[in-house]
Amino acid sequence: METKGKKEKAKERQEKRLQEISLLRTIPYSDHQRWWSSETVAVVTGANRGIGFEISRQLAGHGLTVILTSRDTSVGLEAANVLQEGGFNVDVHQLDVLDPPSIKEFCDWIQEKYGFIDILVNNAGVNYNLGNDNSVEFSKQVITTNYYGTKNMVKAMIPLMRPSTAGSRIVNVSSRLGKVNGRRNRIEDSALKEQLGDLDTLSEELIDRTLSTFLQQVEDGNWKSGGWPERFTDYSMSKLAVNAYTRLMAKELSNRPEGRKIYINCFCPGWVKTAMTGWAGNISAENGADTGVWLALLPDLAISGKFFAERREISF
Ligand code: NDP
Repeated sequence: METKGKKEKAKERQEKRLQEISLLRTIPYSDHQRWWSSETVAVVTGANRGIGFEISRQLAGHGLTVILTSRDTSVGLEAANVLQEGGFNVDVHQLDVLDPPSIKEFCDWIQEKYGFIDILVNNAGVNYNLGNDNSVEFSKQVITTNYYGTKNMVKAMIPLMRPSTAGSRIVNVSSRLGKVNGRRNRIEDSALKEQLGDLDTLSEELIDRTLSTFLQQVEDGNWKSGGWPERFTDYSMSKLAVNAYTRLMAKELSNRPEGRKIYINCFCPGWVKTAMTGWAGNISAENGADTGVWLALLPDLAISGKFFAERREISF
C-alpha cells in the first residue's frame, strides 16, 4: 500500500516536472543567450528515428544546421526529407559508429563541406531486453555500440570541433540505469565502484578493463555471480561506461585553451516510447529529447562532465 503511494507520488512529481519543461520549451531562448546561428553545425548519430530524430528536429527548429546521420543511407534520406519538407536546414550522411571506414568517410565529408562542427550528439544505441528480461546474448554488441561507438565518435570529431569563444559541445545520450551508485541497479564491488566514481582513479583503461571483465564472464557463463547491475545488465554496463567516460573526457578537455573549449555532458532521456522500449515508455520522444537539446544549446559555459535528467543535474 505504502509502495503504491510512493509510486503515485513519484509519478505526480514526474508529471509536474514534465509540465514545467513543456512550459520552458514554449519560452524562446532569449537573444543574448543565443550563441548559435544558422551556421552552427550539429551532428546527431542514429538520427533516423526515435530520440535522435527528435533531437535533430528540435535543434533544426532552433535554427541550427543539423547533420542527420544514419547507418542506413536510404532510411536516413527519408528521415531527413521529412525535416527538409518542414523547412528545416537539415543535411544527411551515412554513419555507422562502429565502422571505421564509415566514420573516416563521414569526417572527410564534414571537413570538405562544412570545415567544422559545433555540436556532437552521441545518440546511436541498442538494447535487446524488454520488461523483466535480462539476456546477455547480445552484450558484446550492446557494449560495443553504446560505449565504443560513442568513444569512436568523440575521438573522431574532436579535431573537427570549431574553435570559438562559445565553445563546442558534446552530448552523450545515456541512462539512469548506468549510475555507478544506483540504489538497486549497481556494481557490488565497492572498491571498483569507488575507483570508477573517483576522478583521480578513473581512467579509460579502467573503464575498458571493467567492460572486458564483464564480457569475459558472459563468455565463461559466470556473469550472474559477478556483482553487476541486476537490470538490463549489459545495457546498464554500457551506459555506466558512457557516464564514466563523459566525466573523464570533461576533465581531459578542460585543459584546452580559451577559444578551443569543448564541453561534454550526458543525460538520461527518461523511459521513452520508441522502438527500443517496444513503445512501452511513459514519455514521448519529443519530451525525451528535450534535455539533450537544452544541454547542447546551454549558454552557461561552466557546465561540463555532468549528468542530467529532466533538465536537472543528477549524480553519477
Ligand atoms: P531507437 O532504437 O529508436 O533508435 C536507436 C538509433 O540508433 C537508431 O537510429 C539506430 O539505427 C541507431 N544505431 C544503432 N546502432 C548504430 C550504429 N552502429 N551506428 C549508427 N547508428 C546506430 O532507440 P531510442 O531512440 O530510444 O534510443 C536513442 C538513445 O537513447 C540510445 O542511446 C538509447 O540507449 C538512449 N535511451 C533510450 C531510452 C528509452 O527509453 N527509449 C532510455 C534511456 C536511454 P537503425 O535504425 O539503423 O537501427
